[in-house]
Amino acid sequence: MNIKQRALQYTVNLRRKESYAIQSKAEKVQVRAFSFQDVSKAQQVYSASLFECCGNEKDKKVIKAKKDFEEALAKHKIRMDALYPKDFICDKCHDACVVNGTICSCSIKTYVDALRKESGLGVNTFTFNDANLDIIEDEKAKANLEKAYHQMKVFVTKYPNVKKNTFVFSGLTGTGKTCLSQAVANELINKGFSVKYVSAFKFNNDMIAVRTAPIEHQQEMLEDYLNSDLLIIDDLGTEPITRNVTLEYLYLIISTRQEKNLTTIISTNLDGDGIMTRYQERIFSRLTSKAFSLSYNFEGMDLRKL
Ligand SMILES: [Zn+2]
Repeated sequence: MNIKQRALQYTVNLRRKESYAIQSKAEKVQVRAFSFQDVSKAQQVYSASLFECCGNEKDKKVIKAKKDFEEALAKHKIRMDALYPKDFICDKCHDACVVNGTICSCSIKTYVDALRKESGLGVNTFTFNDANLDIIEDEKAKANLEKAYHQMKVFVTKYPNVKKNTFVFSGLTGTGKTCLSQAVANELINKGFSVKYVSAFKFNNDMIAVRTAPIEHQQEMLEDYLNSDLLIIDDLGTEPITRNVTLEYLYLIISTRQEKNLTTIISTNLDGDGIMTRYQERIFSRLTSKAFSLSYNFEGMDLRKL
């Protein structure tokens, strides 16, 4: 299952639980309501009237019996809709949480929360609106960051109708590159796209696990890396390089995603030369490809010290 399927499954399961809770609560209300003799009797009269009038709810006799039933309930402070809740919480999707192949409006919030949970971003909900670039005193750093924020905002607005798909955020620790990549992630999650966010260290561990797993499980283990709408690898260069693993899988993932026009953001402390030395020519050329890639250099002061 991919991220979107898992998020949908979570959404549907939650709806089932909500629906079950409503029905179980109603059952308790029923037991209580019919323990009162007047309610029980009024309900019997109402049922009998419906039977007599072949279910015609507009018949005067039925209307009166229903009113009497409601009044009997009201005496005990019981509402009819608590006694007999609707069959579905949402009339639009009948609790399938999907209408015409898209997530129903009743379930968007749950689905987006589930996408965020699946992404690996944790509780982080940072978006472009949360960024305060005015705190940066270094003019050059501020200008660089403003430019990057602006371009990534345009990218997110146009997404998925975009040409570039690979972004390298390069700069020292604390220069804002992680915040920017998280903002892009959250903006896309809020639009219903799937995101996978990992540290380079976790990426490397995951790839070691893939490499050593039985071949029939490898595709499933790579699914999120190869097919999520956005993949973010944070802090590339801080992970250990494992022979026959790190470079091989990094290349496979980057090149596959470029060919599918799926977005990848890599943040790194390394500059171009550093990437070339550590990851070699073919990864370097993918990350700097004119057709697919854009690089940002986040120069300037350490934001974490502010
Ligand atoms: Zn619905």
